Amino acid sequence: QTRVKNICCVGAGYVRGPTSAVIAFQNPDIRVTVMDLDEARMKKWNSKHLPVAEPGLIDFVRVSRENSTPNPNLFFSTNVSECVAVADVVLVSVNTPTKLSGIGAGAATNLVALESAMISVAKAAKSGAIIVEKSTVPCGTARTIREILTLYRPGVPFEILSNPEFLAEGTATDYGSSQSSSGLAAATALEKVYAKWVEPSRIVTVNLWSSELSKLVANAMLAQRISSINAVSAICDQTGADIDEISKAVGLDQRLGGKFLKAGLGFGGSCFKKDILSLVYLSRSLHLPEVADYWMSVLAINDFQRDRFVNKVVSKLHNALMGKKIAILGYIFKQDTNDSRESPAIEVIKTLLAERPAEIAIFDPGCNVAEVRQNIGRHVAPSEAKPPKPLGPVEAAVLILTPWDQFRYPALAKQHSVFRKYSSDGGVEDLKVFQKPELSETDIVALGEFKPSSTMSLTEMTSSDPLNRLHEQACPNGCVY
Ligand code: NAD
Repeated sequence: QTRVKNICCVGAGYVRGPTSAVIAFQNPDIRVTVMDLDEARMKKWNSKHLPVAEPGLIDFVRVSRENSTPNPNLFFSTNVSECVAVADVVLVSVNTPTKLSGIGAGAATNLVALESAMISVAKAAKSGAIIVEKSTVPCGTARTIREILTLYRPGVPFEILSNPEFLAEGTATDYGSSQSSSGLAAATALEKVYAKWVEPSRIVTVNLWSSELSKLVANAMLAQRISSINAVSAICDQTGADIDEISKAVGLDQRLGGKFLKAGLGFGGSCFKKDILSLVYLSRSLHLPEVADYWMSVLAINDFQRDRFVNKVVSKLHNALMGKKIAILGYIFKQDTNDSRESPAIEVIKTLLAERPAEIAIFDPGCNVAEVRQNIGRHVAPSEAKPPKPLGPVEAAVLILTPWDQFRYPALAKQHSVFRKYSSDGGVEDLKVFQKPELSETDIVALGEFKPSSTMSLTEMTSSDPLNRLHEQACPNGCVY
């Protein structure tokens, strides 16, 4: 039976980087090499400023990269053939975004990066290597991978496993193998790697297709819970019922549980929308339009909720943003990361910019300014007409779009001095920030007043903040746009 001594991880992104570090940390006797074509990203993985921010990640990486006993066992490289050639197990986690053009555009999964990675793996892998599909892929991709391997290395035996990443849930792992004896042996070999830290009862071996589909289903169902509670929050808004009280009451039913029941701005991130679209595309291909429509409605509610929020902000500012100032606290899609992909904040800010406010200042401790500029910069409205001169104090709003702890009340209240920075002459004393401890879309709007001369600077927020280990790694000054 295969004993795993050498693992190569292809794709050093948000998923593979952290999970490779955990595998190396938990298995000091296994040499783990993470491989990616992106040289800039790999330089960061080899430095103390990692490209991905997750609480505790730097500690895992440091131990395995520098101090593991008997030898360091975590390496980062851009040389694909060298790394793959010696590996007993190759874990492939490259990006699989939604297709933007061609057949299935806007719904199907773009498998270009996966195919290209698999070709490199096929060319270099040693006979008998276990190739593991870790990317989230459409059902049936394992068959495509088999075809690529056969095309490039005819007659060479490889085992293919599907082991989608259930990383957000922390420890659950599920994988699919062919039901042949060599397929099951490959699954057992990988199982031993995980068994160092995952309870055996949480390791589930299923058939290949179930494994691929289960990842899409898990993400779609999590997203569906968010859309469900957000849909209810719209009813609450018009009836006087309190969405937080409803979440609490409903969550006490053990069949439902309390998680993923917080109303808010809606989900973001690179996975939920993409994976639902993939499920929709699959349903349509299987001639199941009712199923496709069902999952599409989860996305529709997500957009509806975000638009509802922006409309409310604009209406609280009397439907006239020209000349007014807006501070956005939180830009990334989830606190404790540096990932802004598909963040709802992006659409919120674009819509507000179209209303031509005097200024929008954006602060997030986790992200970097270049990223914000890239997404938002080109959406700055042309100043074809000069905004009217304010006659009195300038109205302003603070919108909290990511529930970082430091933005929560009372953390925010403690940092009240920060808000004085808005105005050198103390005009911000009037600024009121209303926010309950839990972020809920009905509480996000806070109104206050700025004196016309005030300038916005939120940089000071970072310096006094105790939880900044994270952004010291990712972005020393936080992100101020
Ligand atoms: P990512 O875009 O952060 O990283 C992908 C990496 O793959 C990039 O660094 C890219 O340079 C690299 N890459 C692309 N082609 C390559 C090649 N031929 N050889 C070597 N490297 C190559 O993506 P991610 O967020 O880490 O997601 C990876 C996969 O995991 C996706 O399928 C995603 O759906 C899935 N997933 C993501 C999450 C998440 O929380 N981000 C959770 C579970 C599953």
